[in-house]
Amino acid sequence: MIKILKFYQDRGLKIVKGEGQYVWDDKGDKYLDLHAGHGVAFLGHRNKTVISYLEKQMNEIMTLSLAFDTPIREEMTRELDDLKPNNLEHVFLLNSGSEAVELALKIARKITKRRKIVAFKNSFHGRSMGALSVTWNKKYREPFEPLIGPTEFLDYNNIDSLKNITEDTAAVIVEPVQGEGGVIPAKKEFMKALREMTEKVGALLIIDEVQTGFGRTGKIWAYQHFDIKPDILTAGKAIGGGFPVSAVFIPEWISEKIEEGDHGSTYGGNPLAVAAVTAACKVAKSEKIADQAQKKGELFLKILKEKLEDFKIIREIRGLGLMIGIDLKVNPSTAIKILQDEKVLSLKAGLTVIRFLPPYVINQSDMEWAADAARKGISETESKRLAS
Ligand SMILES: *Cc1c(COP(=O)(O)O)cnc(C)c1O
Repeated sequence: MIKILKFYQDRGLKIVKGEGQYVWDDKGDKYLDLHAGHGVAFLGHRNKTVISYLEKQMNEIMTLSLAFDTPIREEMTRELDDLKPNNLEHVFLLNSGSEAVELALKIARKITKRRKIVAFKNSFHGRSMGALSVTWNKKYREPFEPLIGPTEFLDYNNIDSLKNITEDTAAVIVEPVQGEGGVIPAKKEFMKALREMTEKVGALLIIDEVQTGFGRTGKIWAYQHFDIKPDILTAGKAIGGGFPVSAVFIPEWISEKIEEGDHGSTYGGNPLAVAAVTAACKVAKSEKIADQAQKKGELFLKILKEKLEDFKIIREIRGLGLMIGIDLKVNPSTAIKILQDEKVLSLKAGLTVIRFLPPYVINQSDMEWAADAARKGISETESKRLAS
């Protein structure tokens, strides 16, 4: 039989169903899902509004080129209008985060007529050739070099390093909270200095919100924590309520310089994806998901800090909204495995971080369950380390 290439380590579970913040395996065991498909299921698995929009759309039309209009696209633009990043009034839908990053980079080169892209150490922007070029992890990057250049990686959260952004820089791409790199929130002064520097030299600021966007950090867009505005914003993961879709937002002045043929995508903006985004926007507004993420994120951090305060093996517990990391002084894999045995799914970030990306519907008893499971996992990691 043909085998599926995974590129990910097998977790040894067969998941058969999801609902809200939970999933079930083929044995009927229930899991708290803080992995959420890399954060995609932020609106909860099988969100009812998303399902009803998708079902309705499936019964109307599933595929249609952007060259033709269709009512669901009009509905989406109305719904998305309230949630769009402040000054960015044009959107292009694509299918994955990497593709959104590709388009953002292409636009930056076209608009500035410059080539160099600046990114940051520990960044993650995806795995297609362009997105990979601005991704820090050498393990992901080096086997595929030469990639697209010139690129330069600066120190994240280091204002001094920003002097390397110069008049040959087309764009700087940054995550407001580095996700894959270890759940590292940017400092406000750093983001402000970055905004000033890019403006000064005429480089575009691309804020990659594929993981942070759509409410997860306690604001609809994480850049809103920093009192700055992006030139280009990429979104993905949560914005389709579970359906695969990504987006690039740009302002009017950039859109005016974009021409037919500069980009395109067979599936980009297909009616199903558009229906999913429309539904996700409705849920985001009616459920005030960003406010919920902010309150619940604070509570979750507090619970974790209380229950885990006595571990020397923990370097830091940090996060923004419902994007939380427990940074250990060692590899977190044993702890993540034990969390799974305790029926809590989490994921690794960086080399040492246990990452939680819960759906916004998580409640306090879920948080306590997760914290107790983390306690068990970390305690076992610590005793293993002492024994060796
Ligand atoms: C996940 C992620 C991507 C890549 O998204 P894919 O959908 O996997 O291509 C890009 N940027 C950030 C910040 C991400 O977290």
